[in-house]
This record gives sequence, structure tokens and C-alpha cells, in this order.
Amino acid sequence: MSFSKVRVFISMVLCIVLFTLIPCENVIAADRVFPHDDNLVIVIDPGHGGTDTGTQGGRIQERFMNLITAQALASRLSMYEGVTVYMTRSDNDTTMSLTDRAKYAQSVDADFVFSIHYNACYAHDRFGIEVYTSRVAPYNAYGYQFGNLLMQKFESRYGIFPRGVKTRKGLRTEGDYYTIISANIYREIPAVIIEHCFADGTVDAVHTASDDQFRSYGETDADAIAEYFGLKSSILGIDFTGASDNLISADPANFNDATYEDRTAPDSVNVSVVSVDPTTNTITVRIEATEADGMMMFYTLSTDGGWTWEESEVWPGADTYNGTFDSSFELTLSFEAGDRPDIVIKGFNRYDAYTKSNQITFIDRFNSQDSPLYREA
Ligand SMILES: [Zn+2]
Repeated sequence: MSFSKVRVFISMVLCIVLFTLIPCENVIAADRVFPHDDNLVIVIDPGHGGTDTGTQGGRIQERFMNLITAQALASRLSMYEGVTVYMTRSDNDTTMSLTDRAKYAQSVDADFVFSIHYNACYAHDRFGIEVYTSRVAPYNAYGYQFGNLLMQKFESRYGIFPRGVKTRKGLRTEGDYYTIISANIYREIPAVIIEHCFADGTVDAVHTASDDQFRSYGETDADAIAEYFGLKSSILGIDFTGASDNLISADPANFNDATYEDRTAPDSVNVSVVSVDPTTNTITVRIEATEADGMMMFYTLSTDGGWTWEESEVWPGADTYNGTFDSSFELTLSFEAGDRPDIVIKGFNRYDAYTKSNQITFIDRFNSQDSPLYREA
């Protein structure tokens, strides 16, 4: 079925903003929760390397992307005062285990480890930046506060969507799934994973088109790290030593609920017809969702009953800083004469689990004059 890709949001019906498990916190000036002295030691870990290529879904292998970003990060961060920067690897041929990276961090007496990555997924339908932090206090709060600061910069500088600061539980433990995090905190070194954006998706393709972009992301990482620790650089003419308006408040004594791992799919996703205009061959639909233990983050639409899916879109009102989203919104879809739409939606939550909606199947084809019949199932 051919149909016009032109879609117009005619109105966002901002109904009840759902209050979820995630507390409503605004990004306001807050105290720095990570204590440190004047001699910071930072380890930058370019993810993968050697025989471990990382994702191959992008323009170049992830190990190359990570090193370009990490080198730009390390050289800019070194321009700040009171910080010594190390890297776990400085070429693309070195194969290094995750535990060896943590041991290296310990050997240089690291205060913090930043692991540099790019993302990918099987369905190639995702987009945005995310940061993984530990589930364990106080490390959870350290990564939560840093990750929020970093996402704000990526959103404002590049328009990269903030997917949130997340945690992932280990398979057989209450601790962390990701070894680069667990092996470091075992050594009492806080560690976060930065997944800058998706190397394999169509939405983020514009953000992974050149090596200069990977370099720029490293420089932005460096500035975020400097702001997080309150550093200054006379070479760069930047001073973050005062209070920062960009720090979210975080509780170092407890697990921060905003990093909660939602392991279930959205509770419900529903699509219904608001109106059909037979003269312009357009349909306005309302999409509604409920998600009690998390938030809706993006959706994708099919007009051929689920055989093919359009590019993912941000769920209207999705606010990963506050954990809120619009519980319902309307979309106007344009078709051509001869089309017989079969509409279904997939609504995804912050952890990429989706629920498929009911289906609206047109029995008649559009013919630019008569109102076509449809059924909602
Ligand atoms: Zn990776």
C-alpha cells in the first residue's frame, strides 16, 4: 500500500500527566554528591577493541568510534586543572577484558571511570543517548547526577534525545549486570557507561555521519565531566568551580528511583478513530497509553497491519528527566485514493519494551469522496 508520509500533529491532547514511580524532580541547582580532593584521577575507557569489535551496525565498527571519542575527551579533559587522565587503551588492536580494565583503573588509583560506547539494537529502531549507572549506593547517585548533566548537553548541543540514566540488574545477583560497572565498584571506583547514540538506527544516522561528530561528542563529555566535578581551565577559559544550575539533586545514601529498571511492557496502548475526512483522504486517530511503573518513550506506526513500520518517533511529552509523558495524543494521517489503511501502533517504554495496540482496519478504499467503512478490533 502506498501512502503519504506527510503526517501532521494537529493537536496534542495533554490529558492527565501520569505520576509514575519516578518522583517529579526538576533539573535545578543541587549539591555535587561526589566528594573528591584537588587531585582527580579519571580513567577513560574506550569500549571494546581488538577482536571485540563492538557493534558493527554503524558506518564503522564501534571500537573505532569509541576510540575517536575517547581521545578527544582525554585531550580536552587534560586541559582542565587538577585532573590526571588515563585511558584503558589507546589503539584499536588491543583486546582487553572488562575486569582488566577495572584492575587498570585501580592500579592508577582512579577516582572515576567513564566507559565510552555507541549503541545498537536488533530492530534498528531506537535513538538517543543513555547512561548506565550502578544499582549500588552511593555509586548509583554519582552516575545519576553525572548522566543527567551529560544528557542535557547532548540534547541542547546536538538535539540527541535523552533516553535517561538507567540501571540493569545482574542475572543472578542484586548487583550490576554490566561488568565494567560491577568490577569497578568492587574496587570502590564509581563507573558509568555512556552510550552516546545509536550507530545502527535511521533516526540517529545524522548524528553518526562523520568522525568529527565523534570527536565533538568526546569534547562535550569532557566539559560535562569538568562541570560535574567543578573544575576550571585557564587554557579554555572555562570555570565550573561555582554552583551549577545543571545538577539534578541525587541521594547518595539510597537508590535513586529515577534510575529504576522497568522490566515489564507498557500496561496498555490503544488507538481509536477521532475522524475520517473522505475529501482529503485523512484520518485522525487518538493514541492512549498507560504505564504505571515507568514511562512511554517512543512509538512506531504501521498502516499495513504490521507488515512494515514507520520510523520511530518520540512519544509526545516524553520527559526522561522527570519520568512523565502525555497519556494521550492525536495524529492525522494522510493517504492517497486507492489506499486501504490497516492501522496499528507499537508503544515503547523507557526500557524499550513495547505493547502493540488494537487494530483499525479499513474495509473500503479511499476514493476522495465517500466515507470509507472501517472496523476497530
Ligand atoms: Zn559498546
